[in-house]
Amino acid sequence: MNTEKSKTAFNKAKKYIPGGVNSPVRAFASVGTHPLFIAGANGSRIYDIDGNEFIDYVGSWGPIFLGHAKKCVTDAVKTAADNGLSFGAPCIAETELAQRICDIVPCVDKVRMVNSGTEATMSALRLARGYTGRDIIIKFEGCYHGHSDSLLIKAGSGAATFGSASSAGVPEEFAKYTIVLPYNDVDALERTFEKYGNKTAAVIVEPVAGNMGVVLPENGFLQKIRSLTKKYDSIFIVDEVMTGFRLSLSGAIGLFGLDADIITFGKIIGGGMPVGAYGGKKAVMDFVSPSGPVYQAGTLSGNPLAMAAGNTQIKYLQEHTEIYDEVEKKGEYLEKEFKSAAKKNGVDICINRIGSMLSIFFTDKAVVDFDSACGSDTEKFKKYFNEMLRRGIYLAPSQFESVFLSDAHTYEDLKKTARAFSEVMKIL
Ligand SMILES: *Cc1c(COP(=O)(O)O)cnc(C)c1O
Repeated sequence: MNTEKSKTAFNKAKKYIPGGVNSPVRAFASVGTHPLFIAGANGSRIYDIDGNEFIDYVGSWGPIFLGHAKKCVTDAVKTAADNGLSFGAPCIAETELAQRICDIVPCVDKVRMVNSGTEATMSALRLARGYTGRDIIIKFEGCYHGHSDSLLIKAGSGAATFGSASSAGVPEEFAKYTIVLPYNDVDALERTFEKYGNKTAAVIVEPVAGNMGVVLPENGFLQKIRSLTKKYDSIFIVDEVMTGFRLSLSGAIGLFGLDADIITFGKIIGGGMPVGAYGGKKAVMDFVSPSGPVYQAGTLSGNPLAMAAGNTQIKYLQEHTEIYDEVEKKGEYLEKEFKSAAKKNGVDICINRIGSMLSIFFTDKAVVDFDSACGSDTEKFKKYFNEMLRRGIYLAPSQFESVFLSDAHTYEDLKKTARAFSEVMKIL
C-alpha cells in the first residue's frame, strides 16, 4: 500500500500543527505509523490522498451513524449555508433540535446547545456544582468525558482517595475535587458515598464505556449510581456523547430504562458538524443562565449549519428506527465471524459488543474495567491494526477504542472485513 503522499503531508503538518494533528489519537502514535490524510468519504468508504480506499469503522469517532456524505444531511447543510453561516441570534432550527431531543430522550425537559462534547460535560459539571453548592465530582477510571480540567484526572496512587492530573497544566488543586473509582465497582462507590456523599456534587459516567475500548456496565452498576446520588442529593450525569442516538434512538438512557438528572450529548446529534448539548430535568436546567445563576455561553452555539445537520440526521433516525435492529444484526455478524476466526487460529481475544459498538481486546481474560482493558496485548493490536489497514479496513488506531458500525455498512463490506480478519488471525 502506497501512502507516500500522506507521509509527506504529515511531515508538513508537523511543522505548523503540534504533532501534526488537531486531536492526539489521529497521529497513529500507538500503532507505529503515520496517519492517513483523508481526501473524502462516502457511505461506508473513506479515501486517502494516495488514492487508497478503505471500509471505515471509525465514522469520525461516532457521528457518522448514517454513513459519510449522507445526501439528506449534506443537502440540509448546503441549504442552511446559502442562508447565512451564523447569526448570533436565535433561529427556529435550535428549538426544533431541542424539542426533538426532549421528545425522544427520557429525563430531558430542556436542553442547551454547545459546540463539542467537552463543552457539554464541562458545563454539566458546573451546573451540577452550582445546583448542589458542592464541589466533589466522582468519575470512573477509563471513562473519557472530554478534556476539561476537572475531568482530566486519573486514579491516585495506592490508597489515595482523590485523583491526580492526567495532563500537564491541570493544577493539582483541581484534582482534589475529583474522585476516580474503578468502573463497575459498586462497593467502592458505596464506600465513597458513605464518606463523601454529602459533599458530592455529581457522579458522571459513560453508560457504556467506549473510551477504554467497549466495556459494558454490569447489572446494577448504573442503578446503584442512581440510588446513591438520589439518597445524597447529588446529580447523576449520564455522558451519552458517544452512546446517544446510537445504542437506541433514546440512547443508553432509553435502552436501560435509566433515570438521570443531566445527560450530555455530542457526536451523532451533529451529524458530523461540531456540536454538543446538555439537557436534563427542568428544575436543574433552569439553573443555567440567563434563567439561573450558572453562567455558560457560546458565540457559535446553536449554529444553523450544525442544527440543520442534527435535525436532519435525527429526523431520519426517527423515521427509520429499523436501523437499530439492522446495526445490531451487523454487529452480531461481525462478532461471530471474528470470534470463530480467532478461535480457529488460537488467538486469545475478548470481544465486548453492544449494538453497533464493538472492541476486540487481545487478552484471554474478561474486560470489565480499565485495569482489565490494560491487560491486553497492545503489540499484537499494533500488528493487527496495520495488517487490517493493508487489507483495506480502516480501524481506530488504538486498542482502547470502539469499532463503529453505521447504517451504510453493507454485508459485502462485513464479509470483506471478516475475510481480512481471518487472514490476519493466521499471521498474528
Ligand atoms: C467524544 C467524547 C467526549 C468529548 O467530545 P468532544 O466533542 O471530542 O469534545 C465526551 N464524552 C464521551 C463519552 C465521548 O465519547
